[in-house]
Amino acid sequence: MSERIFIGVAWPYANGSLHLGHIAGAYLPADIFARYHRTKGNEVLMVSGSDQHGTPITLKAEQEGKTPDEIVTKYHREYLECWQKLGISFDLYTSTGTANHAGVTHDIFLTLLNKGYIDKSSMSQPYCPKCQRFLPDRYVEGTCPYCRFPGARGDQCDQCGKPLNAAELIEPHCRQCGTPPQFRESEHFFLKLPAFQDRLLEWVKQQTHWRQNVLNFTLSYLEEGLKDRAITRDIDWGVPVPVAGFESKRIYVWFEAVIGYLSASKEWA
Ligand SMILES: [Zn+2]
Ligand SMILES: [Zn+2]
Repeated sequence: MSERIFIGVAWPYANGSLHLGHIAGAYLPADIFARYHRTKGNEVLMVSGSDQHGTPITLKAEQEGKTPDEIVTKYHREYLECWQKLGISFDLYTSTGTANHAGVTHDIFLTLLNKGYIDKSSMSQPYCPKCQRFLPDRYVEGTCPYCRFPGARGDQCDQCGKPLNAAELIEPHCRQCGTPPQFRESEHFFLKLPAFQDRLLEWVKQQTHWRQNVLNFTLSYLEEGLKDRAITRDIDWGVPVPVAGFESKRIYVWFEAVIGYLSASKEWA
């Protein structure tokens, strides 16, 4: 009997060319798996797409004096050409920049909001008085409080690998102009992850085919206790927030990009 096999391949960030590591690590193994199942007579759907949002894109655009749109269009085209030349047999390779993806994201966001799994709350955000804007995590640099690396960013330290937030940095400054940021309150939506903790834990414990280190890592992460997480940001590049009064903010890329597997499948169907 024929099986239905869904293959969701990692979405590359559309801010630079692919290298052999991408192909060997993600795309070639997935393609071999897809071709094997098609040969076996199974119904395969293999999707992926370019991740077009997030600050790696806007930073790259600013470095090159281009718009984020120009950057993602350039690399999306390049990736499509790579898949064609290499013969990677996607059923659909799309992007997070489509109206369909924004629609599916809004649908999930509003469903969670209506069911009480998303809450509004205020958070302290770095603001550059010279650039006159809120600074995303990666736009703040300073010294790492753990290893004293002077080029740590507001999201993590590339030297010791510790996740950080901008307020923890020693002598934080705006990456664009060097001014120390002020911390101002800004209203955001938070996903109530603790509400899902018990059922996630139960589900993860039933997984028998995961690698032991992945299983242990996930279990210890869940057992430590999940926290509410902000899913909107003070930026203008990304999927708009479908709520009045939030026109100057966008849905945070970590919430929206993973929805791509579902939105791409809907686009294909
Ligand atoms: Zn600045
Ligand atoms: Zn460090």
